[in-house]
Amino acid sequence: MKQLTLSTVLTKPNHLPALSRTKPLAHTYLDNRVTKSQPNHRRARSQGARERLQTKEHLARLAVGLYEVELADKLQRCHSRLSVLTCGRHIAQIIPNFTCEFRLCPDCSRRRSRKIQNKYLPAMSAFMLHNHVSAVHLVLTQTHRKENRKQSAKRIKDSFVKLQRRAFWKKHFKGGTWSLEFTKDKNGLHHTHLHIIGFRRRFFDIELLRGEWLAVTGDSHVLNLKQIQDIATGLREVVKYVSKPLDIRRFGAEDLKEFLGLKNMRMFGTFGEFRDFCKGFVPSDNDGDEITDLESLSRNLVEGCACPKCNQPLFDLRMSGKELPQFYERIEASPTASPPRKVRKSSH
Ligand SMILES: [Zn+2]
Ligand SMILES: [Zn+2]
Repeated sequence: MKQLTLSTVLTKPNHLPALSRTKPLAHTYLDNRVTKSQPNHRRARSQGARERLQTKEHLARLAVGLYEVELADKLQRCHSRLSVLTCGRHIAQIIPNFTCEFRLCPDCSRRRSRKIQNKYLPAMSAFMLHNHVSAVHLVLTQTHRKENRKQSAKRIKDSFVKLQRRAFWKKHFKGGTWSLEFTKDKNGLHHTHLHIIGFRRRFFDIELLRGEWLAVTGDSHVLNLKQIQDIATGLREVVKYVSKPLDIRRFGAEDLKEFLGLKNMRMFGTFGEFRDFCKGFVPSDNDGDEITDLESLSRNLVEGCACPKCNQPLFDLRMSGKELPQFYERIEASPTASPPRKVRKSSH
């Protein structure tokens, strides 16, 4: 099977798979990415935790190099001491001593992406049910120009605002969420993509949407669209770009400097009728059911509570952030450990 990568798909419009009205193609690049994030292909948590530590150390070193002493200090303190609620076989909750809230901090962005998922997934499910709309993952791209990240982001966001004002868009979409993805090619040019979960009212010809995008951007018609089968997976896919804007371990001092200039830029948002819906939405008790990640589900647990996975009592284990990968390793090696990320809510 021919594998399409993000760059081939997005830079060569001719390679874009034609979208069929009824049956989305099985192997667009988006599908590849979704497949990769299935539980079986998922990185071990120990590996993830180890990489987060390395990323933070790298960022802190860069910050020191830029004389951003306060940032370096915050990064070093963030998640340095942990209170881990565990039954010994599962981790139900991790409470850090301190969170730096720096956008590129892998621990903080992970928390942020969880928050987004916890907040929006129930609303999305309810919105779809209520309005009889289906969800699509739409990726909008723009031509490359010599501009910095901020200008590039502003350009694509402005184009999207224009797109939403058009009759075609209003007719076919009932709102959704957007998030920004930044990449940089080997020539140092910024590529900014907009990932949209759009709630589609009805089917349309993809070529018409391309024409609309070209009309608002003036020079870009490259986009990709894919039906979302499972909204939880779809949201996780999109939130990934918010939580992991770039391969930060390949970051240089200049990249960090530029990112510091983006301070208050929004990376995720809602639009259209979905935005209004979210304002008035109160999740019901069952609305967390689709969230399959244990740590995302566990709220307000304390020592002595039953583990949401196995009902054994939880105890509070204090450790340093550096010890967490090893702790995950021990859990992963335990023969009785159930496969990760399949969680059922405990009944009480
Ligand atoms: Zn942090
Ligand atoms: Zn357990």
